[in-house]
Order: sequence, then structure tokens, then C-alpha cells
Amino acid sequence: MSRVRIGIDFDNTIICYDKVFAAAALQRGLVPPGWTGSKTDVREYLRSKPDGERAWQGLQGWAYGKGIANAEVFPGVTDFLAACRQNNSSVCIVSHKTRFGHQDPDRTDLRGAALDWLRTAGLIGTEHSALSHNNVFFEDTQPAKVERLASLDLDVFIDDLVDVFAQPHFPRHVRAILFAGSGNPVPGPFKSIASWAEIQREVFRR
Ligand SMILES: [Mg+2]
Repeated sequence: MSRVRIGIDFDNTIICYDKVFAAAALQRGLVPPGWTGSKTDVREYLRSKPDGERAWQGLQGWAYGKGIANAEVFPGVTDFLAACRQNNSSVCIVSHKTRFGHQDPDRTDLRGAALDWLRTAGLIGTEHSALSHNNVFFEDTQPAKVERLASLDLDVFIDDLVDVFAQPHFPRHVRAILFAGSGNPVPGPFKSIASWAEIQREVFRR
């Protein structure tokens, strides 16, 4: 198999914020004591309440900035990156992430926070890391993200949002994989896959 060039989204594809959102919502008294749920559950719950949208945006400002330290690597990501190394594939991250959040009074540098998280998780910065710091790209807008991934001459791009694949300039020759999580498969011009173990089988099938 020839060397495969792989691009991966960051937020909610590599990094899982479920515990960050649940803990922050509890701590702010936005959900009842003992409440548990995913990031999506927190959003649905808050949006069903008066003024819930503002509370939700405030939580996001926290989660992607100061709260990021408690976020987790999605199960299977580390194995996938090891398989990339084994197969001599190149890997980069292309993320739509502004430097500062709109609803973050602390003005945390979100890109710096993401890089720190990647380093702490061991995904960049060690000789065994599959990723190099130079292969992490943050863009201000969704169209700029697609321009970037198009310029990297990728074979595969993996993202949790269909919006990326729906951009008119998303390159047609790039294999689009939607990391769909535990929900139902989503129809569209991409392959919808629920777990990183399955993504690994899909990308490195012989
Ligand atoms: Mg994402």
C-alpha cells in the first residue's frame, strides 16, 4: 500500500469533551445534582430551558479553553495513530478554531490550549508521537479549513461535522469519513462510521 496522507479534525473527533461539559454544567448549577450525560445531552437540556442558549454558549467558552485539560482522547484514536505510524502514513490535524472564544471572559488562547492538550496527551511532541506540531493547522473559518486541507493533498479526511464535506470546494478525490459517534449512520457524500476502531479498518484495509 502506498503512503496514505490523512487529515483529521480536532474538536469532537480526536478530543472528547463530554465529561468537561457535564462537570461544568453541574458545577454551575445548570443541571440537577447527580445529572449525567454527553456534551449533546447538556446542549439539549440547556436549550430546553429559558435563557439556555446563553448558558450553553458560556459553557462552550469554558470547555474549549480553561476546561480543556479534563477532556479525553476518544477511544481508539491512539491505536489509529499507531497504525498510521506503522503504515508510514502522514497525519495532520486541520481544525476550525479561532484563537479566542466569543463567550470566554478569560480570553484563553484556544489554539495554545489545544496544543498543550495534545502535548499532555502524548499525541505530539515525543519521538513516538504520530503527529508533529508542524502538522497541526488551525483556521478561522470553515471555508479556510477546507482550503487548507485541499492544499495538503490528502487522501483521507475525518471529521465529526457534515458541514466540512458539504463545502463546495471540498476536494472530490479526498475520501471523506464522518466520525458519527454512537448515533445512527448519516447519509451523504461521505462514509459515516461510529468508532475509531472501524475507521482504522476502513483506512488500512488491505
Ligand atoms: Mg469537530
